[in-house]
Amino acid sequence: MNGEILSSLRPQSLDDYIGQAEVKKKLKIAIQAAKMRNEPLDHILFAGPPGLGKTTLALVIAREMGTNIYITSGPVLERQGDIAAILSTLNDGDILFIDEIHRINKTVEEIFYTALEDYKVDVMIGKGPTARSVRISLKPFTLIGATTRSGLLSSPLRSRFGMILELQFYNIEELVEIIKRACKILKIEIEEEAAHFIAERSRGTPRIALRLLRRARDVATVKAKTEIDRILVEKTMDILEIDKLGLDELDRRILKTIIEIYDGGPVGIESLAATLNLEIDTLKEVHEPYLLQKGLIVRTSRGRVATDLAYSHLGYSSRIRGGLFDGSFGELEEDQSEN
Ligand code: ADP
Repeated sequence: MNGEILSSLRPQSLDDYIGQAEVKKKLKIAIQAAKMRNEPLDHILFAGPPGLGKTTLALVIAREMGTNIYITSGPVLERQGDIAAILSTLNDGDILFIDEIHRINKTVEEIFYTALEDYKVDVMIGKGPTARSVRISLKPFTLIGATTRSGLLSSPLRSRFGMILELQFYNIEELVEIIKRACKILKIEIEEEAAHFIAERSRGTPRIALRLLRRARDVATVKAKTEIDRILVEKTMDILEIDKLGLDELDRRILKTIIEIYDGGPVGIESLAATLNLEIDTLKEVHEPYLLQKGLIVRTSRGRVATDLAYSHLGYSSRIRGGLFDGSFGELEEDQSEN
């Protein structure tokens, strides 16, 4: 039941899909042209941080094209045979969606070169001296790949995509719209101000906006309220320890580590990840983009540096130009309690 409701939160058409105006414009033209020519859509790569709507767009495209979509993910495609089996079951115009496409291994990746260009794959049958290569013809299909950064893809694979579309963080108005739309589907009222309050703390990301909304709805249910208001949302954010920039406890710990342990930086991503006991990829792909976008850190050739905004947001005295920090951590505890 819950799963059904959650999947109905996904927009069903491009017109339903809020934000990403540039991406939508390009997709609309491509979809219309492919339909008019009665051809499959060109291969598409979506790049952008998690939760911005890459999978949702792939589902919307399949619906707009009126084709089937087969969903898989890079890390599960271990052998050439796995992918050859999937590709050979695709029908004319079907879509294959591969999430985390930058994580497919090299041998599997190679099979895509001919599959994407000529709709053919060469697979090895048998082992040892009797092994032979067999060429299989495929039906014309569309590959939609999703990756957190397009630069993570090898260039032979990247160059086979007809469109590389970078998704952007959403602005507050778009997130408010997404939140209100979800409330309609979930059949719960929300005050305009409360929707705004959630949007501001959603890190420009629909997945986070919807997650925060669901937590606020939980608080409303427990308090037997039929409307989500500002006070209720404030209480929810306090419980979740989300501050006014949308940072959670881990984001603040990242900034504090740069400031306290590395004197504000620069610090290399490897050292930072090791100190925080985090995976480098998680730090780079999940946390860093938003901290960069908010101007809380900057990337320099020597590593990450916390900005004055990071200092003031966490209640530290600003660092002195030239990288020296005045050594005062006195205001930290006090200001943090407000967040
Ligand atoms: P990604 O594949 O980029 O990690 P998803 O497509 O899984 O992100 O989207 C995450 C969640 O946000 C989904 O629940 C989806 O319904 C919602 N969502 C994403 N983009 C939009 C949008 N433009 N409008 C409404 N909801 C969206």
